[in-house]
Amino acid sequence: MPDKEKIGYRPTWAQVNLDNLEHNFRQVKSRLRPHTKVLVTVKADAYGHGLVPVARRLSEAGVDYLGVASIDEGIKLRKARLKVPILVLGVVLKQDISSLFTFKLTPTVCDYELACALSKKASTLKTPMRLHIKVDTGMGRIGVAYKDAFELVKKIHRLKSVVIEGIFTHFPFAGSGRRFTVSQIKLFDRLVDVLKSCGITIPLVHAANSAGMINHQDSHFTMVRPGLVIYGLHPHRGIKMGLKPVLSLKTQVVFVKRVPAGVGISYGHAYITRRPAYIITLPIGYGDGYPRNLSNLGPVLIGGRRFCVSGSICMDQIMVDTGSFRPEVGDEVVLIGKQKGKTVTAEELADSAETISYEIVCGLGSRIPRLYIP
Ligand SMILES: *Cc1c(COP(=O)(O)O)cnc(C)c1O
Repeated sequence: MPDKEKIGYRPTWAQVNLDNLEHNFRQVKSRLRPHTKVLVTVKADAYGHGLVPVARRLSEAGVDYLGVASIDEGIKLRKARLKVPILVLGVVLKQDISSLFTFKLTPTVCDYELACALSKKASTLKTPMRLHIKVDTGMGRIGVAYKDAFELVKKIHRLKSVVIEGIFTHFPFAGSGRRFTVSQIKLFDRLVDVLKSCGITIPLVHAANSAGMINHQDSHFTMVRPGLVIYGLHPHRGIKMGLKPVLSLKTQVVFVKRVPAGVGISYGHAYITRRPAYIITLPIGYGDGYPRNLSNLGPVLIGGRRFCVSGSICMDQIMVDTGSFRPEVGDEVVLIGKQKGKTVTAEELADSAETISYEIVCGLGSRIPRLYIP
């Protein structure tokens, strides 16, 4: 168990293996054409893995771009002295553009108004601003409508102090609906071609998230935008990429008791012992992002054996019926990760909780300290 200095008095922590992160990044690189660039998304605290340590390691490993959701996330990276280009993937409001200049962040632009405001500010400051234009080819989220994209790009191209460094789109079905994604790729490719034929060549053309990158070779364009696979998680089943999970979630037994058959456990007595058993308590709950949906379901590894959460998950604690096996207070428990040859993955937790692995790792709360290896 790690020192109190590192994790405090509550023995629950997440271990983040940065060597595995780098391994996954290299696995991704090895599947790309040599000049394809890589933007890794580090939004939402690097999918719960810790923004700055993850960004730092990726930057050392040669990542070309980092993707964040907001200006705030970008500022955190700049304050940590990261020099890599940073794209703000979410909407930037007109009144906030001066921070983009101060912190050298690249905005996503979806309309002419923002582009004009950027150009005006850029000429006042005598610093040209590079930007990426987002095109909606079927996600229905932010982005200029496909039919208006050509005109918008032409107009922005004419603005004095901005440089269109990138153009991008996003896939809603990259892991499943093949035909929809193929048609999006075609549309996007056509737009880029038409622009080229009008003398507008944009260096960074990107579309692929993890699933798009894996399932559609022709979605790579000049840059890919993976997040999930870099954290060692698979966008769907049947992917053989040699990824290594980056995050493990661990805790310790803090209480052990012996109870007879017929005892109700936790709120609502959603679990009742069927035989005399040991019931242990673990210091983690939905207040830490361990989904309440895993009540009576969540897999738990103790002493190299696999058990299941017993009863409703509380805010700060969960209980486990370990039958005739008697754990000791202080025994290490794995909620995500490996123990003596047994494994629980974030994907498995997500399936049981009827959600996606993204939500499991992003949801782990700030109450859980992250410890970095190495
Ligand atoms: C989060 C995000 C990605 C990465 O998606 P993954 O499925 O995690 O690979 C790519 N592009 C955009 C615009 C995103 O917001």
